[in-house]
Amino acid sequence: MKKVLIVGAGIAGCSAALALAQRGWQVEVIEKQPQWRFQSSGIFVYSNGLDHFRQIGAMQDLVEAGFPIASGRNVYLDQDGRHLVDVVYPSLGTPPAPAILGIKRAEMHRVLSGRLDALGVPVRLGTTVLSLRQDEGGAHVRFSDGGEASFDLVVGADGIRSGLRALLWPEVQPTYSGFGVWRSVHRRPPALVDKIMMMGLGKRLGIMPISPERLYIFGTVAQPKDTWFEPAHWPETMRASFTEFGGPVRPFLDEISPDTEVLYTAVEEVVMPLPWHQGRVVLIGDAAHASTPFMGQGGALAVQDAVVLARLLEDGAPVPAVLARFGERRAPVCRFVQEASHRVGRAGAEQDPARHAQALQALPASAQAHVDDFYRQLHTLSH
Ligand SMILES: Cc1cc2nc3c(=O)[nH]c(=O)nc-3n(C[C@H](O)[C@H](O)[C@H](O)COP(=O)(O)OP(=O)(O)OC[C@H]3O[C@@H](n4cnc5c(N)ncnc54)[C@H](O)[C@@H]3O)c2cc1C
Repeated sequence: MKKVLIVGAGIAGCSAALALAQRGWQVEVIEKQPQWRFQSSGIFVYSNGLDHFRQIGAMQDLVEAGFPIASGRNVYLDQDGRHLVDVVYPSLGTPPAPAILGIKRAEMHRVLSGRLDALGVPVRLGTTVLSLRQDEGGAHVRFSDGGEASFDLVVGADGIRSGLRALLWPEVQPTYSGFGVWRSVHRRPPALVDKIMMMGLGKRLGIMPISPERLYIFGTVAQPKDTWFEPAHWPETMRASFTEFGGPVRPFLDEISPDTEVLYTAVEEVVMPLPWHQGRVVLIGDAAHASTPFMGQGGALAVQDAVVLARLLEDGAPVPAVLARFGERRAPVCRFVQEASHRVGRAGAEQDPARHAQALQALPASAQAHVDDFYRQLHTLSH
């Protein structure tokens, strides 16, 4: 039986572990954190990602643990809450997956790690890779807990600050995107069932249900590099960052208090040239291609990487050759998402009032076409 080590038990790592275990690989997962903590309150996943979660047997449980928006409706408002346009996201897959799912990050992890348990895949917490050496016989790893083992394949799924990438590709570093994202969690009023995006001057605020009881709001702001906010002041800083917003988000901003779950993230990305592998070691997910979050596709790309990698390995070709094909297959898809996300980020940061007003005026006629075109191109690149 072939042995694989998965480094990192986030979305990419858990998904790769599931996809490979289901295909008969002997899987070991290591995770640096001594216990689970998530730098994220909620996440939304579109149907292209959900369809891949279905392929590793996790979609139904994720849908039950989150808040699906089967209609796919995303309502666009201006910063005062005036309606601009409704856009419908596609329900992809057979049968169609829910168009958008909002879910707490911890719930997503509960589902994925629960499936790993069910398959008997061991996850060693508080462990990382100290060193790695490769020869004809495999990849030989020394772990931070003192252990050593050899593998046919090592998958680096250890996120934007990947330790495996730092070991093997020290020249590749994350770069700051110029944006900060604020997120806070609130009680969901029963009537709030759509994803909402509010288009402010130089800022955007979104509202997304993540469970029958909860929703989260997320706001993007252009921020100079190295801006730092004292975590104890995050609630008041988030409130103060979006004072000009009214409409449906106003009550949530008003209720932010020191007790509210608030998170600030300075957004970085990773643009890594091919190859994404060295010998039997490959990077997947954010470790290889972290994107700015404006398309909401990072989770989808991570689970797709996992499924594609596991499928390509099925034909039994030598591992390094398969890993080369994997990178060539996935890089154009990930680059396309990163570039689309840049365009959306730049448009959202428009500070000039006249150009902003023009963009809002143009939105109703163009928004649905942009979504349709994005998914058409994504589909073409992915197949
Ligand atoms: C502000 C923001 C909002 C976002 N919103 C969305 C969204 O709504 N929808 C969406 O799809 N995506 C979103 N994303 C992107 C999404 O969170 C990521 O693309 C996704 O989590 C990538 O998964 P991953 O498994 O590659 O990395 P991660 O989720 O970061 O997991 C990496 C894992 O590896 C572990 N690890 C790290 N270093 C080591 C090491 N040296 N050894 C062992 N383990 C290690 C970490 O502890 C972690 O558990 C957002 C990103 C940001 C920044």
